[in-house]
Amino acid sequence: MTTAYYSHPDCRRHDMGDGHPECPQRLAAIDDHLLATGLDVALDRRDAPLVDFDELTNAHSAGYVAQLKDLLEGVEASGRPRALDPDTAAGPGTWPAVQRAAGAAIAATDAVLDGTAENAFCAIRPPGHHATRDTAMGFCFLNNIALAARHALDVRGLKRVAVVDFDVHHGNGTEDILAGDERVLMVGIFQHPLYPYSGAVPKGTNMHNLPIPPYTRGGEVRELIEANWMPALEAFKPEMIFVSAGFDAHRDDDLGQLGLVESDYEWITRRIKMVADRHAQGRIVSCLEGGYNLGALARSVAVHLRVLSGT
Ligand SMILES: [Zn+2]
Repeated sequence: MTTAYYSHPDCRRHDMGDGHPECPQRLAAIDDHLLATGLDVALDRRDAPLVDFDELTNAHSAGYVAQLKDLLEGVEASGRPRALDPDTAAGPGTWPAVQRAAGAAIAATDAVLDGTAENAFCAIRPPGHHATRDTAMGFCFLNNIALAARHALDVRGLKRVAVVDFDVHHGNGTEDILAGDERVLMVGIFQHPLYPYSGAVPKGTNMHNLPIPPYTRGGEVRELIEANWMPALEAFKPEMIFVSAGFDAHRDDDLGQLGLVESDYEWITRRIKMVADRHAQGRIVSCLEGGYNLGALARSVAVHLRVLSGT
């Protein structure tokens, strides 16, 4: 059994302009590091398909999906970039990337449920966890992880799935979509206060949010995860685990002020894998969210993949 690695060249065509931290070079940095470390050979590389359009309303409103499609197709046709919010812009190349990112998350879910991969990582852009049911924001257009989780539940018939989010920013979009859906347990740890300034008060009893102050180090983060996530996950017994894998809580990342390092990401991934092995037949689909220091991102993704692939 292998770890499937979903990506697509289209995900590098989405470009929000010079100096934007959510840049195409992020995926290049990850790829280069996987090749340089030899980890590449342990992964089963697969091309991300375009998302099936009918899937999008599993997590987004029909109105938003239609509006987004119109807008991004218009940008694609005209070649003229459009800003969706102060941080989020669409250019030529954005629409295919958006469809590949969501398509990767769903295809990875099918692959793991069909048993053609033990688990999967999606090296995708744009990220998704800030995209709400009705809004693109914070570099995100479609909520890849919520679409994948809903696909597992609504299309594939699972009864309980967990979403784990360790990005430095609160996964407000995922919470907006999945709060109150008792088939889902979401556990998240994020810096607070920090963009998008939400999450301190969870929107539903199925949301286990852990807001933590700036400058918190890895040891404290591990203790909080052990005390909060682990009992909740153990009690919930998820049949599959979805991971919003953002690596911007790294000490070297300028978008947040947390102090995680590679060994912390390794430890977190091991804890997730332990729950998956115990309750979910090892089924994990992990999707890239943030992570903006290219070196720290590449090294952190590599340790995450080492644990997932058991190499
Ligand atoms: Zn982030």
